[in-house]
Order: sequence, then structure tokens, then C-alpha cells
Amino acid sequence: AIEVVDIHKYFGPLEVLKGISLTAHDGDVIAIIGASGSGKSTLLRCINMLEIPSSGAVRVRGEEIALKPDGPGRRMIADRRQIQRIRTRLGMVFQSFNLWQHMTLRENVIEVPVQVLGQSRKAAIEAADSLLERVGLYEKRDVYPAFLSGGQQQRAAIARALAIKPDVMLFDEPTSALDPELVGEVLTVIGDLAREGRTMILVTHEMGFARDVASRVVFLHQGVVEEAGDPVTIFSAPRSERLRKFVGSIR
Ligand code: ATP
Ligand code: MG
Repeated sequence: AIEVVDIHKYFGPLEVLKGISLTAHDGDVIAIIGASGSGKSTLLRCINMLEIPSSGAVRVRGEEIALKPDGPGRRMIADRRQIQRIRTRLGMVFQSFNLWQHMTLRENVIEVPVQVLGQSRKAAIEAADSLLERVGLYEKRDVYPAFLSGGQQQRAAIARALAIKPDVMLFDEPTSALDPELVGEVLTVIGDLAREGRTMILVTHEMGFARDVASRVVFLHQGVVEEAGDPVTIFSAPRSERLRKFVGSIR
């Protein structure tokens, strides 16, 4: 489980997150929606400490990431080793795949298990092949990313994120860089993970998908949770005028 408690994030004078709290219990699928610039990516990046929050707390499986001021301003720092440990519990998938281009798919998937988690190469390869099989890419295991479609690369990125056996998967608009005809194959993989009961936090513009798989939807507006609730209520009976407009504008 992940707990985010009253997170604020400043970039210089700009307050991008203004007191966000959310909890993902085991098995929850939380969809985060909101307009461009509302702070969705920053929130995800604060959860895995790619950005250090200016205040508030992040707890992963009950372990709170200790933050302390980095000088007199609002900048905070966190302990590197603790960040490393937290990251081994979080699988992150970005919009732009971010596969290592000089490695084959299989090498991409085993890299962190072998180099960071100390798994044996043999065990890591076995696990990698079965993950690549799951996302439909076993035949492509020895291919370099440049030779694959965006949809295939993103499915490989999901396999790589799963290879660390994360407690929680974080997705930041995993399909928004894809050609429309490739979106479905990636959503199918993510949907399967959701139905297996994996805990995930997913930033997405795919409202139909959010409605189908999310257990809870959080609508961000200018760094604040404007409305949150179950998908049916959020999409069919939104209370906030802003959410109503947003949902209307996306369909
Ligand atoms: P999108 O839907 O376009 O991805 P988003 O909801 O993910 O948008 P963020 O990327 O979190 O939005 O950005 C929120 C705000 O923070 C924006 O105003 C953005 O310009 C600003 N911002 C994000 N990262 C930085 C940074 N490293 N330095 C300064 N400002 C930043
Ligand atoms: Mg974003």
C-alpha cells in the first residue's frame, strides 16, 4: 500500500501540488485524471521521489520516506539509500517507454534484477522470458527496441517494471505517445494487471479505460484534488462543474 499525506511541491515560487493526499490500498487501481499542467506527473514523481516533495509524507508499505531541508529554502532532500529501497518496490512506466536502446528486450528486463537486486542471471532470464511471454513479446526477446513499434516497446517497458516484483505499479500516460491503433494492445496488458488485483496508480487520458478498471478516480485541478470517488460517480454524476467540463471535453 502507498500513502500520500498532504504533499506540497514547489518549483521555485510556483506551487504545483497544494496539499494532495491519497491512499492506494493493496489491490486498488487509482486513476488520476486532470488537465495538462494540473500536476499529475509531478504527483507520481513525488511518490517515487524522482521529485522530492516540499512538505508532506510518502509512505510505502508503512515505511515513511524521511525528508529534511536542503538549506534555508523550500528544497528538501531524502536519504539516497532509502529512496533506492523504496524504488525497488515501485514499478514505473513512462509515456516515452525509456527502454535502454543499446540492450535487447531481454537485457532490458534483467538489468535491474541482476545489477541492483543481485538476482542470478539464470533466474533473471527465466523470469524475464516469462514476463515477455505474458506481454506477447517472447519472440522478440533478442531484438533491440529501435526495431519495435511503440506499442511493443511500451509492453516491454511494462515487463521490465514487473521484473522487480513491485508492490505498486505507477503509470504516467502509458498510451499517450502511441499511434491510436497501438493503444489497445497496451491497455489490454494494463487491464489484465488490474484484474489480477495489482495495486496501481495510473495517470491517463483514456476515460473509458479509467472507468472500466479503476477502483477510484482522482481528478486534479491546479494541484488540488478537486473531486475523487468511484468511477461511475465521477464519470456519470460529477459534482464539480470543472470535472463535468473536463470529462465532457475529453470524450
Ligand atoms: P500533462 O497532462 O501535460 O502531462 P501534468 O498534469 O502531468 O500535465 P505536471 O507535469 O505535473 O503536469 O506539471 C505541473 C506544473 O508544474 C506545470 O505548470 C509545469 O510547468 C510545472 N513543472 C513541472 N515540472 C517542473 C520542473 N521540473 N520545473 C519547473 N516547473 C515544473
Ligand atoms: Mg504529465
